[in-house]
Amino acid sequence: MGTIYAIANQKGGVGKTTTAVNLAACIAEAGYRTLLIDIDAQANATVALGIDKHTEPSVYDVLRGDVTAAEAVIDTSIDGLSLLPSNPDLAAATVELAREAGSDGRLRDALEGIREDYRFILLDCPPSLGPLTINALVAADRVIVPVQAEYFALEGLAGLLDTLGLIQRRLNPRLAIAGMLLTMHDTRTRLSHDVEREVREHFPELVFKTVIPRNVRISEAPSYGIPVIHHDPHSNGATAYFDLAKEMVARG
Ligand code: ADP
Ligand code: MG
Repeated sequence: MGTIYAIANQKGGVGKTTTAVNLAACIAEAGYRTLLIDIDAQANATVALGIDKHTEPSVYDVLRGDVTAAEAVIDTSIDGLSLLPSNPDLAAATVELAREAGSDGRLRDALEGIREDYRFILLDCPPSLGPLTINALVAADRVIVPVQAEYFALEGLAGLLDTLGLIQRRLNPRLAIAGMLLTMHDTRTRLSHDVEREVREHFPELVFKTVIPRNVRISEAPSYGIPVIHHDPHSNGATAYFDLAKEMVARG
């Protein structure tokens, strides 16, 4: 039965999509059947894997109950990695789900039929704590929280942890924090080191050992529709995401 990881942080631009895509690719490359689910209407993860963002059916149709998850899953160019694509239509789901009582478990229920087919399922969340992220956190077993090594990194983290605690108590007792992940770390700057130290001090035990460096290869890869391990397998970025995949798999 696949373990479901939500990649979540209500802040935008912290590396959620980059992490979801590259981590999924590394796990698949290591031989584990993996499914990436793009639940952000921006569809950046879908496009980063070289898939048209107007592909139908999408996760939107799955959340509406019009098709099953199995019917919407497609193959990617990476062996062992499947994608449940997003679509700009998903923006409407935010409103529709918010209006419907008891809709928090839609994604969880939709995934029931396909969990067995994968060892890992990764959910790329939108930059908000709205109904789509709540659906992801209700479906997930673990959360990975990317934290950008920048000045305002810690801001909002306390609120996010409160929300995770609330979801654990009210909606999904299985939910655990897999770890916080420092992203876009620049070893040349003192700021990056300061932020890393501060995050590790605040949340001992909770921060992944692996740190993702700021690396131009990582930011270029989506424009080719491929993960960094295919764009430049020897780059620091590719190595870091491989290390993260190892650390994650080792943690179970
Ligand atoms: P989010 O999904 O949290 O909004 P993204 O993963 O889309 O964040 O990242 C935001 C931007 O930063 C993107 O342009 C992405 O290419 C870039 N980026 C993310 N991680 C790195 C990194 N390690 N090195 C360089 N650029 C990065
Ligand atoms: Mg994103």
